[in-house]
Amino acid sequence: MSLLLKQSLHPTNQKEVDAFKRLKKRFGCALCDKVFEDGDLFRFVYANGTANAHCGNFFVCDKCDGPDVLERGIENYKLAVAGAKRWNIYGPDWMKY
Ligand SMILES: [Zn+2]
Repeated sequence: MSLLLKQSLHPTNQKEVDAFKRLKKRFGCALCDKVFEDGDLFRFVYANGTANAHCGNFFVCDKCDGPDVLERGIENYKLAVAGAKRWNIYGPDWMKY
């Protein structure tokens, strides 16, 4: 398994940051606005195996991490979807990461 998908907190590196930049994808915490930079602690949260976790897998920073991070990720996603629908911007291109 690549280090990127390691499910415990570990520091990111410039290579990972650059790879996400190249793909023009947001590499940051799903629960706050933090975008990861070289050396920031982060963790990959595997959600695809959880029923009703429509948020999909996501990353969190060390400050947002905790035992209930998966529940908070799901809740956060529901709020984001509700907001996007309210503003009429919800669609296939809506989630860019
Ligand atoms: Zn965070």
